[in-house]
Amino acid sequence: MKNIVILGATGSIGTNTLDIIQRFPDQFQILGLTAKSSDEKLESLIKAFRPKVVALQDEVAAMALAQRLSKTKVEVLSGENGILAVAQLSEADLVISAIVGAAGLLPTLSAIRAKKTVAVANKEPLVMAGEIIKKEAAFNGVSILPIDSEHSAIFQVLNGERHQDIQRIILTASGGPLLRLSNDEKTQISPEVALAHPNWKMGPKISIDSATLMNKGLEIIEAKWLFDLPAGKIDVVIHPESIVHSMVEFIDRSVVAQLGLPDMRTPISYVLHYPERIPLSLPSLDLAEVGTLTFEKPDTKAFPLLTTAYAALEGGGSLPAVLNAANEEAVKAFLDKRIHFGTITKVIQQTLEAHRPNAIKTLDDVLEADRWARIEGKRWIKKDTNS
Ligand code: NAD
Ligand code: MG
Repeated sequence: MKNIVILGATGSIGTNTLDIIQRFPDQFQILGLTAKSSDEKLESLIKAFRPKVVALQDEVAAMALAQRLSKTKVEVLSGENGILAVAQLSEADLVISAIVGAAGLLPTLSAIRAKKTVAVANKEPLVMAGEIIKKEAAFNGVSILPIDSEHSAIFQVLNGERHQDIQRIILTASGGPLLRLSNDEKTQISPEVALAHPNWKMGPKISIDSATLMNKGLEIIEAKWLFDLPAGKIDVVIHPESIVHSMVEFIDRSVVAQLGLPDMRTPISYVLHYPERIPLSLPSLDLAEVGTLTFEKPDTKAFPLLTTAYAALEGGGSLPAVLNAANEEAVKAFLDKRIHFGTITKVIQQTLEAHRPNAIKTLDDVLEADRWARIEGKRWIKKDTNS
């Protein structure tokens, strides 16, 4: 029996993980669950999965939940410290890191420091602090297993291969819901349209990241740290069908790809059972029915954030943390209808231009870069709102 903790249990990755777990009740037990503020949703998960400990970031929501559960054995913790406590529960065997954004950084690090195997969907901490996370994982002797579909694909392809035999990796990108729109058409697009991803049903932040292609930008940085590769060995190709989840080219020019229908439950089940696989009753990929798989070069004029992300990756230091924080602030402002879709790119680029890059040696350096970029990003957002 494996004891599982899910950080961000009420989200898209969290609920997909629980969907797999409830299929194998004699293999997995839910030990801890966390969420931001959705106490009712968490309560229904508690009833279904009987965790020992839960935590809500929102103290008021946690208090309401604790009151309702006062006659049960479930312990309800609150605030950031509550989430950190769940991330490091001593009986946990595997921690699923599925909080969205920078809020997942400290919980992910806490799990690693508590010597837990961590399965990472929450890519933003790797973007901000990849070097620190890798060092902590090595120091504590823990594995980091990827959930992100592209990184899961590469992880599966690299199973049993030697690092020196990798020529390059090729991340596929669907291109998102706005792939064929002109820059002018995109500028005025509403959050509702930008949120409607053609192939994947995901949380709001990553859906907007997919529409700007920033998601792929974040993923190239994620790939650098997960697979220890320089920017020059990480390529991106647009593949609107989302069937080929990513590929590795080896030095003998053999290219190996992982394919499947777009369903996060497959990469999630891979980390739950790694290194074994288990039978999942999901629809089979029927290539004859799909018919055609297409690939094209990313249009970096239409999606400049991919180039911006490569520059941040190559520049290193504080740049990826600044890129991430400015993006988080801009996406939030767009979802709140404070800025236009086209302004997301401007806010990120202006924040990066205003930044004097510095080296990242400690976690405090990361947090400082993140803090600075949010203030600077908000300044550009406000300027745009007033203009
Ligand atoms: P989501 O918005 O659906 O869920 C986020 C979860 O995190 C929720 O449980 C929420 O309560 C919690 N949360 C949010 N803010 C928090 C905070 N400040 N403190 C504590 N908890 C907080 O997001 P998602 O789509 O499930 O994505 C989660 C992560 O996985 C993201 O980093 C995303 O990029 C990555 N990812 C998602 C998918 C997908 O299919 N959804 C695929 C690949 C990678
Ligand atoms: Mg992905």
